[in-house]
Formats: sequence, structure tokens, C-alpha cells
Amino acid sequence: MTVYNFCAGPAKLPDEVMIKAQAEFRDWNNTGCSVMELSHRSKSYIEVYDQAVAGIKKLLNISDDYSILFMHGGGRGQFSAVPLNLITENKKAHYAVTGSWSKSAVAEAEKFADITAADYVSTDEQGNKFVQDFDKWQVDPQSGFLHYCPNETVDGIEIFDAPKFDVPVVADMSSTILSHQINVNDYGLIYAGAQKNIGPSGVSIVVIKNELLSRSSDSIPSILNYKLTAENGSMFNTPPTYAIYLAKLVFDWLIERGGVEAQEKINIKKAEYLYSAIDKSDFYSNHIAASNRSRMNIPFFLANDELDKQFLSQAEDNGLLALKGHRIVGGMRASIYNALPFEGVKALVEFMQEFERTHA
Ligand code: PMP
Repeated sequence: MTVYNFCAGPAKLPDEVMIKAQAEFRDWNNTGCSVMELSHRSKSYIEVYDQAVAGIKKLLNISDDYSILFMHGGGRGQFSAVPLNLITENKKAHYAVTGSWSKSAVAEAEKFADITAADYVSTDEQGNKFVQDFDKWQVDPQSGFLHYCPNETVDGIEIFDAPKFDVPVVADMSSTILSHQINVNDYGLIYAGAQKNIGPSGVSIVVIKNELLSRSSDSIPSILNYKLTAENGSMFNTPPTYAIYLAKLVFDWLIERGGVEAQEKINIKKAEYLYSAIDKSDFYSNHIAASNRSRMNIPFFLANDELDKQFLSQAEDNGLLALKGHRIVGGMRASIYNALPFEGVKALVEFMQEFERTHA
């Protein structure tokens, strides 16, 4: 039986990547060592690291005006690092709240900065949630930066365009990076925990406009300091070397498949297939307006939530794993990141239709 893993993160990695990593596990490039046994300062490892940086630069078309940092602490580490590094003298920052993760980012940032948090989610006449247009966002030009989360992993809300304001825009792209094309120049800083579209947990990527590096003061913890991390090529201390190696393999895999442009087409096809199955049925529902429906995380509900347990256990029997919705939302959630193939979505839809036939 083919198994499809719909976990929100850590998530499925591409089969080809796992097979390559397995083949190289104990002997990388005829060194007689695993990548994880190499010194991070060795010539061999620096080669891997440089290729990882080159891979993401190519995939996102990142200019030399930006630095790429590999950091510790996952997405939440950046919830602290962003305000610590980027606040200016007045300590002000604007946080757009569009769901659970942007809300958590506010809770952390409030420890270090004077945060204005504004909820930009509304509900339309059909009862579906949508994000208000950017012209409704009231960003004080005195803010050191604007923080937002383009894809709310828990809520299934995605914002596809970039907001444009006179302050640097910071985006938590943890669950959407590399899923569709973006213009990096629209952002002051992009960050992402790796464990969805990049690789295993344990590393996060920061893409930062070089001119913002001067904001990092010496007084913030070194491990979270962007300037120090950039000056040391992400090797101020020992980086998560193996996770970076796996990220490099994922970047190679994406590049071989035609990059983000080609992957975006597949992601649109996968998401449309699942949303259309949900919309066609009276048994399943999703409550996000079409313009903000996430292509990566698709929450859906059964008409009768007493059937949730049965749905999950039968799905598992059919090789469809980790479909339980986040505890604060309930219902189901299918996370369909880059590595989850169209066939997986097809198998899920077939299962859903069969379940509806036998239980509705
Ligand atoms: N931001 C977003 C959008 C996320 O989805 C997550 C994790 N699911 C986080 C931040 C937190 O990431 P971590 O667990 O790596 O700290």
C-alpha cells in the first residue's frame, strides 16, 4: 500500500531526496564519512553549505542585495529574532494578525517591542473568512517593520500578493516558501522553519536585505543576531549541518523539476482538485473565501463531527496519514506541501468520496 503523509510539519520529504540521502548516509562523496560527521569548517562541508545557499538563491531568484542565513530555533526562534534585530529607536512594529501563527508571533514580539497588532480577517456573507485588502491595513509609517504570515498553517488562510508599505515587510513563510513564485525584492526579510517545504526540523532560513543588517545591536543574544550570523557565514557556532545538507538535496530536487515555477503549477492543480471535491459535496466543507484558500494546508470538516474518529482511522487504514485538524480548529487538515504528489491528493479524494457514500 502506498502511504501518503499529510502532516503539517515535520512533513513528507521528496522520495528521491530520501533515497539519495540514504545512499550517501555513511559515505558522502567518497570521504568515508557521513555528512553529519564532517566538521562544519571542513572544505567538504563548506561545499555542501555553499551549494545550499546557491540553491535557494536560484530558486527564489535572490539578488546580492540579500543575505541568506541558516539559523537555529525554528520558526519560533525568528518570532524573537525579528523584533530583537529589527526594532528601531522608537521600538514600534506593526503586526498583521490573520490566524494562529501571526498571533503567536505577536505574543513573542511584545516581550521586546511596542507592538501594534491588528486583526485583518473578516467573514463574508457566506460565512467564509477572508483577509482584508492591503489598503485597509493601517501601518504607522513610524513602525520599524510590518510583520505578517502569508500562509497560516493552522487556519488554512493564504495571502498570495505581497503587501507594499513604506516600512520593511517581514514575512513568516514557514509553510509557503518555495510553493509559488514571489518577488524577494518586495520584502525586507523572509524567514521559514524548514520542516515543511525545505527539509527536516532543526534549521530555519532567513533571507534578509543587507541594508537591514546594520540594525542588529551587539546587545542581543549572539545566536539570534542577524549581523553576526551573516558575518560568520551562518557558522558563528556549529550549524545544523545535516539538516542543511538535506535542504540542499531538496533544492536540487526542485531545480531538476523546473524550479518554483513548475512546482507552483503542480500545487495549483493539487489544491484545486481537493477544494473542488470539498465544494461539490454536501458532506465536506471548508470555510475560507476562495481568494485566501491556502494551497498548502487545507482544513475541512465533516457534516457530522461524531464521524471524525472513524474518518481518521479508516483513512489511516488506507495509508492516508496525519489528517487530524489542529486542535484549535478541529475537523481535518490535509497539508499538501511540495513533496506530496498529485497522486496523494487523488487518493485522498477517492477515500473521501467512498467515506461519504458509506456514511452520509
Ligand atoms: N510559523 C508558521 C507559519 C508555522 O507553521 C510554524 C510551525 N508549524 C511556526 C511558525 C513555528 O515553527 P517552529 O515549530 O519551527 O518553531
